[in-house]
Amino acid sequence: MELKFLGTGGGRYVTGTQKRKTGGIVLESEEAQIHIDPGPGALSETHQEIENSSETNAVIVSHAHLDHSNDAGAIIEMMVEAYNQPGTVFANETVLKGFSDIEKKISGYHQKICGETKTLEEESEYSFRELEIKSQHMFHSDPKTAGFTVSDGEKEIGFWTDTEFSEELVEFYESCDTLVVYCSRPKGEATQSHTALSDVPKIMEKISPKTVVITHFGYKFLDSNLEEQENWLDEEIDAKVVFAEDGMKFPGNRTLDAF
Ligand SMILES: [Zn+2]
Repeated sequence: MELKFLGTGGGRYVTGTQKRKTGGIVLESEEAQIHIDPGPGALSETHQEIENSSETNAVIVSHAHLDHSNDAGAIIEMMVEAYNQPGTVFANETVLKGFSDIEKKISGYHQKICGETKTLEEESEYSFRELEIKSQHMFHSDPKTAGFTVSDGEKEIGFWTDTEFSEELVEFYESCDTLVVYCSRPKGEATQSHTALSDVPKIMEKISPKTVVITHFGYKFLDSNLEEQENWLDEEIDAKVVFAEDGMKFPGNRTLDAF
């Protein structure tokens, strides 16, 4: 599996200013190409950054906030109508149906044109092509926000999506080789419903992925000294630390063994 980070920004200020892009992540495996959290810009970034965007065959949307879901309909039209893929959507309940006062983010029409629509809930488990996708609920202001893992049988990548830190959420990621952390705040700036860099060592107390990739940088985080933040985390945890950048490929030129 390989990840291409189209956008590494998060939150309304970074989205509005495009200080970092917000197009989400494309996961490529032997048989699958999944667009994860297609925020504003995802459609055009896909065409700029991904050579084989016509092979996209699924979309994952972790929750209903704009920086994760805005371009979901556009990516669905690209996949299903422009490129004639069957197209599968994995999304949390809020994105598909709305929840409480949060409106749904993928229209009924766009859900209908997809081959399959799967809801990511607590303890969901789906097979897609050669992949296994599992999810749990996170602690975020969209209460149905899904954290998820993707495994191809050899390697497993965990996505710690938008959430407040809680010990309860950690065990779900225990078999991951790589953990992608949506981390919107720098260290010491913990905030309700989001993860700060100082939460990452707490996540790592009970699990031991080989690599931690930090992404979804919020405004305050980008305003801080990123090199200092990265060095701090590097000292704090045993895993290899990667601060994602727009356009970054992971694992880069190395083999999967370097995960
Ligand atoms: Zn959010």
